[in-house]
This record gives sequence, structure tokens and C-alpha cells, in this order.
Amino acid sequence: MPCQSSDELKILVEEARICTKNGKVANYIPALGKAKANDLSIAIHYPDGRCLSAGNIEKKITLQSISKVISLALVLMDRGLDDVFGHVGMEPTGDPFNSIVKLETMAPTKPLNPLINAGALVVTNMIKGNTVEERFLRLLSFIREMTNDSTIGYCEEVARSEFETSHLNRALCYFLKQHNMMAENTDVEQLMDLYTKQCAIEMNCLDLARIGLVFAMDGVDPLSGKQIIPTDVARICKTFMVTCGMYNASGEFAIKIGIPAKSGVSGGIMGAVPGKFGIGIFGPALDEKGNSIAGIKLLELLSKNYQLSMF
Ligand code: GLU
Repeated sequence: MPCQSSDELKILVEEARICTKNGKVANYIPALGKAKANDLSIAIHYPDGRCLSAGNIEKKITLQSISKVISLALVLMDRGLDDVFGHVGMEPTGDPFNSIVKLETMAPTKPLNPLINAGALVVTNMIKGNTVEERFLRLLSFIREMTNDSTIGYCEEVARSEFETSHLNRALCYFLKQHNMMAENTDVEQLMDLYTKQCAIEMNCLDLARIGLVFAMDGVDPLSGKQIIPTDVARICKTFMVTCGMYNASGEFAIKIGIPAKSGVSGGIMGAVPGKFGIGIFGPALDEKGNSIAGIKLLELLSKNYQLSMF
């Protein structure tokens, strides 16, 4: 039986919050370093429109890597499976999210999956449009449709902060260009502009939970009845969330929690409990793999208390 009241959630949040002292806020993107380490909030969005929440639910967070699932869905819808998976693989990795090592040791040089940075950069580069503005707006419109919130935008400070410091991501792009995984005419600076804006798209936990809900319901927005993402694309995204969504801790997460989820270095986690509800979490203190340390604890408590594992 799923969670029935925000009071139940509040108890779990306070229990999980204790873990925040063992984590660290990401600061390799300088603007993210301003977050408060002991913050923790959660929203759950049910298909009938009911929402439960605990913590400071108004706070906006940037999506960071969570955006990679959404850009993947958009690009799969635009270009089809053959084109997309001609450029990026379907396999999980034991390496960190920003690792370059497999690009050099594997032949052909194809990023292992769309949720590590190398794969995500290839996917973002496939978003259709003539200019960065046009391409970014397409992604933003898609997100606004999923959240039913036309005010969603991005945080300029975080985007700029990442753009100015993204040397490793630039290196990944040039490596991929050299090995023909990115078109020869790819302008890396423009791609970084688009990618850092994508990662800096911001929303609160309720919006995040609503996106999780659309994935949980196989691409349908249960409130409008509209199929926003085709079922097969939603299924592919959820499968990647299970196998690669929590960086190189995805195996342990699948065993202990068993919910399709995607995390980001801002401390956000978007969860999609199949057929049941969407989850949005914000807890900026991260563990050594880059996942929200208290967010994972909270999901573990939720999964155990309400038998949410899909396995
Ligand atoms: N913008 C981040 C980067 O590419 C996203 C990483 C993440 O959230 O894991 O470094």
C-alpha cells in the first residue's frame, strides 16, 4: 500500500536527513557549491492528481544529469531508435559519469550509454533545430508539457558556472568528434552552451515528481490523458534508469530499492514507480558516487515500508 499522508513522509524525511552529515555538496560546478548540505525534501505525485510532500517543497533545483533521460526521450522521438543507438550504446558502466577511459579502450569509440556524460553529449547534440536557442526551446517545451508548467526555465548562474568550468566535457566532445561519433561540423562551444543550459533547467520537487509520473505511466500524463511520450520510448528510458540511472551505484540501488530513478549532481532524484506514482527528491549532500546520500536513504525507507521494488 503506497504512502497515504504527508505526515508519514515527514517522519521518513527526518530519519533520512541524519545521513546528510556524511555527504558533500558538489562544488566542481562552483554555483552548485552554494547549496545547503542538510536540505532534504520530497514530493510524490499520484495519477489521480494527489500530491504528498515533506521538506521545503518550494525550493528550485537544477536537473543536471536528470535532464539526460528527458533529452534521450526527445531525441528518440525525433530520430528513432536506429539513429540514436548508432551513436550511443545500451550498456551500464562501472566507471564514474564523466569518465573518458572507455572511449579510448573500446572499439568503436561509442559511449556506453546515454546517461554518462559522453553519451549524453552525443544525445544532446542530436536535438533538432537550427540554433542553440531553437534546440533549447524544443527541450524546454517538452519539459513544460510534461510538468504542465509553462513557467519552467533555467538558472543562468548555474549554466554559466558550468560553461566556464566544463573542460572535461569539452575534452569528451573533441574525442568523440575525432572518432566520428559527433558530426564533423559540430561546434563544441555551441554544444556546451546547449548542454549546460539543459543541465541548468530548474524546477521544484513537485514538478520533478510529475515528470516521474509521466514515465511511471508509460508516457501518458494521467491528468490530461495525453500520450506525451510513446510507450516504447518511455519503456527504454525507464530501463536505462534501472541499469544506469544512479551512476556506477545502479546495481546496488536496483537490489536495495528497485525503482527506476535518475539522479543529478545537484542532489535531485526523479523516480518513476511503474503504474503507481512519480517521485521528486532534493538533497544536495552527495555520496562518493555523486548520488544524494539522504535521497537514497529516503528511497530505501520508502521502498521497504511500502514494498515498492519492481523486482
Ligand atoms: N552538468 C553535469 C556535468 O555534465 C551533470 C552531471 C551529473 O549530474 O551527473 O558534469
